[in-house]
Amino acid sequence: MIGFELTPEQKALQEKARRFSQEVILPVAARYDRDGTFPLEVMEKAHGSGFFTPLIPKEYGGEGLGVLDNCIIAEELAAGCMGIYVSIFVSTLALYPIIKFGTEDQKERFLKPFCSKFSMASYCLSEFTVGSDPASMKATAIPDGDHYLLNGTKMWITNGGYADFYLVFATTDPGKKDKGIISLIVPSHLAGVSHGAPIDKMGQRASNTTAVTFKDVRVPGENLLAGEGEGFKKAMIALDITRPMIAVGAVGVARTAMELAIQYAKTRVQFGVPIARHQAIQFMLADMAKDIEAARLLTWKAAWLADQGAQNSKEAAMAKAFASDVAMRVTTDAVQIYGGMGYTLWHPVEKLMRDAKVIQIYEGTAQIMRLVIARQMLHEVGGIF
Ligand SMILES: Cc1cc2nc3c(=O)[nH]c(=O)nc-3n(C[C@H](O)[C@H](O)[C@H](O)COP(=O)(O)OP(=O)(O)OC[C@H]3O[C@@H](n4cnc5c(N)ncnc54)[C@H](O)[C@@H]3O)c2cc1C
Repeated sequence: MIGFELTPEQKALQEKARRFSQEVILPVAARYDRDGTFPLEVMEKAHGSGFFTPLIPKEYGGEGLGVLDNCIIAEELAAGCMGIYVSIFVSTLALYPIIKFGTEDQKERFLKPFCSKFSMASYCLSEFTVGSDPASMKATAIPDGDHYLLNGTKMWITNGGYADFYLVFATTDPGKKDKGIISLIVPSHLAGVSHGAPIDKMGQRASNTTAVTFKDVRVPGENLLAGEGEGFKKAMIALDITRPMIAVGAVGVARTAMELAIQYAKTRVQFGVPIARHQAIQFMLADMAKDIEAARLLTWKAAWLADQGAQNSKEAAMAKAFASDVAMRVTTDAVQIYGGMGYTLWHPVEKLMRDAKVIQIYEGTAQIMRLVIARQMLHEVGGIF
């Protein structure tokens, strides 16, 4: 039996997130986009509303929600501003592996304090020379008595300048590729941890993105989350869970662009009629609506599979690839519908187009998502993989 009706609890979550988005995020989104500064006040309110801790079980102070529940929240937050949403979301990316794979001691030490007071966390996988191919990472974590000695620089780290702790992937031996990768929970106050200046970006400018450097950082052995042979696998499992949350962010961005395009098309008059009367405009609007609906459904399915504990790598990659392409296409068409006005900074559609672009890049590029899908397909039918 398939049902598409949200439960009363999910409707309440959606309503709460929509109100937060409209009352807290939307009024400041343009200002933070312009300044490129970090909306700490919004983060604190979002943490207070439980949006930082959706997947953390209630026994540790979190919301105890499922992936689909969180996708419903995420669409609303991203509809207000994707840069602000991603700053909220990225803590879940760093926390999920602790929820899923952490020891009881790690959950007590990291999840509980994270829930009880305003905190942020970052996920450190990428490096300057390593993005799509993280198995070739250079950062090293060498066992040293009951510690690990961590060295290297991670690049593009969302919330890098604000995290209380980092989930860091590093290798015990670069020659071992994925087999040598481990993950460590690294508090930002440890000696040798530093971050660079915020990177000036095209879009999602309200999010804080920095390099983070680890120089002879002594990380206690009890902060090891995943050992050799496990670190890479667990990083990928975490991405299967979080990709639907990015995909649904793309849905939120596209939805806002469509809503603005509809409003504009109904009021802008050319050739004596609102441009919405011209079939070419109607076709663009219709394509927006059908693609957004399809992206949402694909995303919900990937999230639902995750909640069932089922393998969802292919569906999560499909959702992420499809929804991010939809966001790019819909925001570009929204600018088109606004005509010259869409190309100015006077209207929000240009921001949406800039914000959409990076969704095709981070959490696995559009090309890597297609590789994941193809590998799974070929694996399922047997043969060369
Ligand atoms: C704003 C922002 C925030 C980010 N936040 C984080 C974060 O919090 N934590 C983190 O760890 N990382 C983060 N990233 C990094 C992000 O995940 C990487 O940028 C992404 O994985 C791509 O890596 P790259 O930039 O090195 O591109 P590359 O891997 O160098 O790719 C360049 C191009 O080559 C293509 N390509 C590469 N390999 C193949 C292949 N085998 N087949 C076909 N095409 C290929 C890619 O698709 C892309 O088009 C962030 C990036 C940005 C821009």
